[in-house]
Amino acid sequence: MNRVRLLVLNAALGPLDYRLANGMQVVTGQVVIAPLGPRTVTGIVWDEGRLPGQEVDAAKLRPLREVVDVPPLSEPLRRLIEWTAEYYCAPLASVARMVLSSGGALGGPTTTTEYRLSGGTPERMTAQRAAAIAALEGEQATIRELSAIAGVSEGVLRGLVNQGAIEPVSVAIDRPYLPADPDFHQPALSPDQLHVAKQLVQAVEAKAFEPFLLDGVTGSGKTETYFEPIAEALRLGRQVLVLLPEIALTENFLTRFEQRFGAPPVQWHSSLKSTERRRAWRAIANGDAQVIVGARSALFLPYADLGLIVVDEAHEISFKQDDGVRYNARDVSVMRARFEAIPVILASATPALETLHMANSGTYTKLVLPSRFGGAQLPEVQLIDLTIDKPGAGRWLAQPLVEGLAARLAAGEQSLLFLNRRGYAPLTLCRNCGHRFQCPNCSAWLVEHRLSSRLACHHCGFEGSVPDACPECGESDCLVACGPGVERIADEVRELFPEARIAVATSDTLGSPERAADFIAQAQAKAIDIIVGTQLVAKGFHFPELTLVGVVDADLGLEGGDLRAAERTYQQVAQVAGRAGRGSKPGEVLIQTRHPEAAVIAALADGDRDAFYAAETEARRDAGAPPFGRWASIILSSEDDREAREAANRLGHNRPHLDDVMILGPAPAPMALLRNRYRYRFLINARRSARLQAVLRDWLAMQDFAPGVRIGVDIDPYSFV
Ligand code: ADP
Ligand code: ZN
Repeated sequence: MNRVRLLVLNAALGPLDYRLANGMQVVTGQVVIAPLGPRTVTGIVWDEGRLPGQEVDAAKLRPLREVVDVPPLSEPLRRLIEWTAEYYCAPLASVARMVLSSGGALGGPTTTTEYRLSGGTPERMTAQRAAAIAALEGEQATIRELSAIAGVSEGVLRGLVNQGAIEPVSVAIDRPYLPADPDFHQPALSPDQLHVAKQLVQAVEAKAFEPFLLDGVTGSGKTETYFEPIAEALRLGRQVLVLLPEIALTENFLTRFEQRFGAPPVQWHSSLKSTERRRAWRAIANGDAQVIVGARSALFLPYADLGLIVVDEAHEISFKQDDGVRYNARDVSVMRARFEAIPVILASATPALETLHMANSGTYTKLVLPSRFGGAQLPEVQLIDLTIDKPGAGRWLAQPLVEGLAARLAAGEQSLLFLNRRGYAPLTLCRNCGHRFQCPNCSAWLVEHRLSSRLACHHCGFEGSVPDACPECGESDCLVACGPGVERIADEVRELFPEARIAVATSDTLGSPERAADFIAQAQAKAIDIIVGTQLVAKGFHFPELTLVGVVDADLGLEGGDLRAAERTYQQVAQVAGRAGRGSKPGEVLIQTRHPEAAVIAALADGDRDAFYAAETEARRDAGAPPFGRWASIILSSEDDREAREAANRLGHNRPHLDDVMILGPAPAPMALLRNRYRYRFLINARRSARLQAVLRDWLAMQDFAPGVRIGVDIDPYSFV
């Protein structure tokens, strides 16, 4: 082959043709650098005949510049890139970028310099230097990282390097990972676990595509169960990918993994240092990394020999990416397993309706763990009707819940209060003139955070300080906080129980792996009596002494125009309820609601999952919603309101008229302004028979859009803002 067609990593360009330079050899999937005008571009040598484009005259072809020294992308991965781009109406280049996510992995130095104490003392010792030396005992990292650890400036550390008290060490970036041992510590599985594990192990041995739903109640021991097929993949020398929805859950997983396999897995997430990214990427590509645990982006890495994918808490909405390529990692993981011809396990106590539907119809193999491990009982659930048991003015906890907390405190047991709202109050207004604090960049109220004394927008990150006087009428001491966030609930608890040790657990307080690990250690050591937290603590955690879960506002998620609101509420409350009574002591769940009659709340109270799914299935069938029909959304946005509105109107004017595709809109999106962009939305509801993506592509291709207009196509959307 002398002529090659490249998929180039630039979404504005189509495929480009080149010829090989003299003596150069490439295979399909090879990553290469090619000249482009005066610059260069990274590309992937693509399969002949699969990328449409016109043939360029052979004489005009320019030679490739260089072949990048990484293994070529495998055929299953190339098919996955094509499928993802096609299904989610995204540019191939954008998907390919996710695969080559670690630019640094493609080249650059193979060693880096880190620093550590040399054992020597500086000629001139100051208090600051002494403190830095004490803090750096046993540490080795870059100067910047050491300065964060020691809490001194980089200048101070460089001074110590000059004086010989700190020495540089050359570190190989691509050094190997510790090997995991499949037989390091084999736990005794329950008969149910054994039965399920055996089928999963067989599927790994069979090396064939098979999707599983591992449907096990909270605390049933799903993790220990799926560790068995992971062990089998290790024995066969194949790689395993475990997707987790949240970095905060990773710590817990790492500990358990290490106990089972004697070494930590390889991690992949957004807060990895760039050298760690490079190390992981290359080890994954050349097959040295065995088990990779990561966030959704780990799905697109170039595994050398993948043998199994596990998606834990597979129903979680954080598997859905809402910008760039808007994919759902749960669904794409099934497609990757299909292209790789391997099993995939979707584990959940509250599966997505779509997943359950696939399992009930036999498309996925359903494996059930019906009871909690070790004889623990599922908790007792009670509703508190807030229209009867009214909390006092400016209070949010009803009497029965307060009594429950008091009883647990007296018994030395732990409680968890769940409210899915960060900060102190979701809205601040002026009592005098009614002014409401709104984000300047978004159609959203600013949320007061008292812990950091800021008013913050949860959509764009805008922050301001809380003023002393109203910016509108100038009146001082007139600002009132409306409604509760977790910080306000924590204040109420503090007032009720001054002696209780309280922890607020949200992405604000547990943002980094270290802080999450710290929190888990404290909760397990019983140094916390009452946890007040958001959905971040609703799942995955196992605190044996936690016996009471209070849901502060079960109705919260039911407001708004979200098509999956009922399902999400069910999942969230059932998951957080699942934190209670996981040890030897029985658990209790108290759910505060204004709508005890709502189907989803009643199902939660009765612990009747089947009733909920049955009712929700019928509602979806009537609405033509997934899994019976399909939704998509298109959002046109621009910094100029008129430009966005006109583009949307024109697109609306050109809409296709089809029997099996219903197009609603355009209308201002619920978030009509987001990050300074004005947004107009179409909602599309299609029958399963429709060729939805082709319809949308043809429709969008009919129109030229002004350069300032951005078009976001969301297939199977989870966000309706
Ligand atoms: P799930 O993920 O299904 O909610 P976990 O996997 O967290 O449940 O298991 C619940 C608890 O039971 C954990 O503390 C886990 O370590 C323990 N456990 C589960 N299976 C076993 C086993 N076979 N042997 C010992 N402990 C187990
Ligand atoms: Zn904002």
